[in-house]
Amino acid sequence: SKRKHRGGYTLFSEEMTLKLRTRLETINELRSAIDNDELYLLFQPQVNLSSGRLEGVEALIRWCKPDGTQVYPTDFIPAAEDSGLIVQIGLWVLNHACLQQVAWKQTATGPIRMAVNVSMRQFQEPNFVESVITTVQQTGITPSDLELELTESIIMSDSRVLSHKLNQLREAGIQIAIDDFGTGYSSLSYLQSLPLDRLKIDRAFIENIDSRAEDASIAAMIVAMGHELKLSVLAEGVETPAHEAVLKKLGCDEAQGYYYAKPLPAKEILSFKVPG
Ligand code: C2E
Ligand code: CA
Ligand code: CA
Ligand code: CA
Repeated sequence: SKRKHRGGYTLFSEEMTLKLRTRLETINELRSAIDNDELYLLFQPQVNLSSGRLEGVEALIRWCKPDGTQVYPTDFIPAAEDSGLIVQIGLWVLNHACLQQVAWKQTATGPIRMAVNVSMRQFQEPNFVESVITTVQQTGITPSDLELELTESIIMSDSRVLSHKLNQLREAGIQIAIDDFGTGYSSLSYLQSLPLDRLKIDRAFIENIDSRAEDASIAAMIVAMGHELKLSVLAEGVETPAHEAVLKKLGCDEAQGYYYAKPLPAKEILSFKVPG
C-alpha cells in the first residue's frame, strides 16, 4: 500500500518491484502449465431447492504446479488476464467442461447443466462468440446444457457490442447467468433489455442471511427482481441448513455452496447426493 510518510516512496517501490516480479514469474509458469497438463477442473453441484435434485455444476479451474503446489484461481486469474493468457486458458476450460458434460450425459444420471466462468478479457475478444460456438459444435454438447457465467461488471460494460454478443449466444441456444449479482449497480430496466437466464446472488449476501435482516431483504429483492424478469435465481455460498431454509422461504430457485458440496473431481459428481 502507498505510504505518505518520509521514506515511504522506497518502501512502495520495493513492494511494487516484488509484486511485479511475482506476477512475471506466475505468467511464465502459467505459459508452460497449459502445455504440461498442470491445469484441471473441479465441479461444484448446483441444487434445485424445490425438487432437491442436482441441476447443474459450475466448473472451477485449479492449477497443480510440477512441485505439487496447488494454486487457486484468485492467485493466477488476474495475471492470466493481464497477460492475455486467459484467452487460451478460457478456451481450455470451455473445451474440457463441455467434453465432461457430454460424458456425463451418456450415463444413466442424465443431463447436468454445465456452467463455465468467463472473464472480461475473454468476453472482449472479437471472436469470443465464434470460439464458443465452435467448441459447442466440436464437443457435441447440447447448447442449452451449457451456461456461461458473466460477472455483473461485464454486463455493466453497457455497449452495443455486449448486447450483440449476448443475442448471438442466445440464438445459438447457450444460457447466460450473471455471476456475483448484487455487487454492481445494474438496473431493472437495463437487465430487461438483455437476453439472460439466471442471476447468481453473490455469496456476500448469503453469509449472514439468517442473522442480518438487511442481507435477507437484499436477497429477497434479488429473488423478486429476477422472477419479475422471468429469470431463475441461484444463491451462492450456501453453507448451512439455516441459509437454505431462508432461501427456500424466499422462493429462491437454486443453491450452491459448501452445505451441499465443495468443488469436486468429476468422478465424484455421479455419486453426489443432495443432503437432507
Ligand atoms: P466464482 O465464480 O464466484 O466461484 C465461486 C467461488 O466460491 C469458488 O472459489 C468456490 O470454490 C467458492 N465457494 C463455493 N461455495 C462456497 C461456500 O459455501 N463458501 C465459500 N466461502 N466459498 C465457496 P474458487 O474455485 O477459488 O474460484 C474463485 C474465483 O476464480 C471464481 O469465483 C471465479 O471468479 C474465478 N474462476 C474460477 N475458475 C475459473 C475459470 O475457469 N475461468 C475464469 N475466468 N475464472 C475462474
Ligand atoms: Ca462463477
Ligand atoms: Ca460467483
Ligand atoms: Ca466471485
